Amino acid sequence: MEEIFSPRFNVGFIFILISVICSFILIIYYLNQKLLFFKQEVEHLKSSIKNLDHQAKLIIKNDIELKLYQEAVNDKLRKLSFLKNFISASLNILDREKLFSQINREVIRAMKFEKACIVTFQDLETIVNLDFTSQELTSLKQFIEKNRDIFATTPLISSNSGVAQELKEVLSAREFLISPIVSGAKIYAIFCLYKCSLPEGMSEAEEEVFSIICMYLGQCLDNIKLFEALYRTGEELEDKVKEKTLQLTKTLKEIEDVSKMKSEFISSVSHELRTPLTSIKGFSSLLVGEKFGKLPPQAKERLKKIDENVNKLVDMVNTLLDISRIEAKKIEVKIAPSDICKLIQDVVDFLMPQAENRGVSLVANTPPALMVLMDSNLIERVLVNLINNAIKFTPPEGKIEVKCVREGSKAKILVSDTGYGIPPEDLENIFREFYRVNDPKHRQIKGSGLGLSLVKRIIETHKEKIWVESEVNKGTTFYFTLEVAENV
Ligand code: ADP
Repeated sequence: MEEIFSPRFNVGFIFILISVICSFILIIYYLNQKLLFFKQEVEHLKSSIKNLDHQAKLIIKNDIELKLYQEAVNDKLRKLSFLKNFISASLNILDREKLFSQINREVIRAMKFEKACIVTFQDLETIVNLDFTSQELTSLKQFIEKNRDIFATTPLISSNSGVAQELKEVLSAREFLISPIVSGAKIYAIFCLYKCSLPEGMSEAEEEVFSIICMYLGQCLDNIKLFEALYRTGEELEDKVKEKTLQLTKTLKEIEDVSKMKSEFISSVSHELRTPLTSIKGFSSLLVGEKFGKLPPQAKERLKKIDENVNKLVDMVNTLLDISRIEAKKIEVKIAPSDICKLIQDVVDFLMPQAENRGVSLVANTPPALMVLMDSNLIERVLVNLINNAIKFTPPEGKIEVKCVREGSKAKILVSDTGYGIPPEDLENIFREFYRVNDPKHRQIKGSGLGLSLVKRIIETHKEKIWVESEVNKGTTFYFTLEVAENV
């Protein structure tokens, strides 16, 4: 006991007590600190949880928005695909009835409506009626009749617009859309969709699709109009062509008849003239030959002139007869392989004295030989006529060349001169009967105007071509072709 109350003991005790108190304080402090730390941790955790909750909410909200957006996109895609199908189905339709038959129940359902009708703007005639009752139809027509001016300025009337209030009452307040179908700047019809089938009611998208369909129908109507106009023009043109062809055939027949009559007339006149002319010719040559006794010089001079002119007349009548015979196909054409070069040379030799008399040079320029299909007698007459003309219409010291060249399956024969030439305005006429160039230089040379007409007919009987090129005071070239006889 004494020990307990001894000062040494007291100091020890106090020291221990202080140590315990200190430790206790320290422990309390430590615990307090830990508590504070845990509190902070809890607070931190709480705010984290709150954050997480906010983010989760955000995610859910985004997810919902995304879903809504996805639905809207899907709806837009569906509408686009509907529009694409509708447009491609009616793209090539060129008939009004067929075009409006595309507006059927399926299309109306795709546009999210239950009923539809289309009425012509002018006569209020119903073109399409999909489940409109007669009362609804009458109300719509009355509305159109009353509000014609509005359609000119309003492309779309919906049940939401004030204009449609009166109609809304009649159509028992359900949603509807009305739009004009415009073609060629005029309203052709009025399209009405009625009773939207969407539970949430129609939106801008429905209005948009409806507007596009109405615009597209208008464009289709424009195309149909254009096609009809084109078709009409085509038909009119066809009728005109038919009419003109008929007229032409008639005129051609008339020309043929007249030409036949003319040939027959020329032929019979020439025949009639030939007999007396032959006897006149016989007598005149006997008289000129003084077979009936001597004649006074003056009489002999006159008789010579008569004889010359009778000869010309006989030539003329003979040529006329030949022309009419060829035209009437009464002449026998013997087309056979023959050497055109030899024929040219022969004709040139035959006409050489005539050329020399006129003082012009005449040369043939041909290959050694070239076989062609021809009636030699007739082609000889062609060459004689052409070379004769060249001699007649070329002044002294001029040149005449007769050439033959092969061009593929054809032989081309050229008769060129350096003579007076033919004025351009006469070129297309010189093959006509009795046509002569009206020029003093040409007129002073005697002729009948029949030679080239005969030449042309002969070439045509060979189914070949003849043409001319000429320049006044420079010269003329006549060309004609003949078929080369290949296997000879
Ligand atoms: P003709 O020679 O008898 O008058 P043609 O029918 O042979 O009749 O010729 C018709 C017209 O063509 C001639 O009158 C002449 O004016 C013109 N003509 C023909 N050949 C030539 C030519 N080589 N050069 C110039 N004019 C020509």
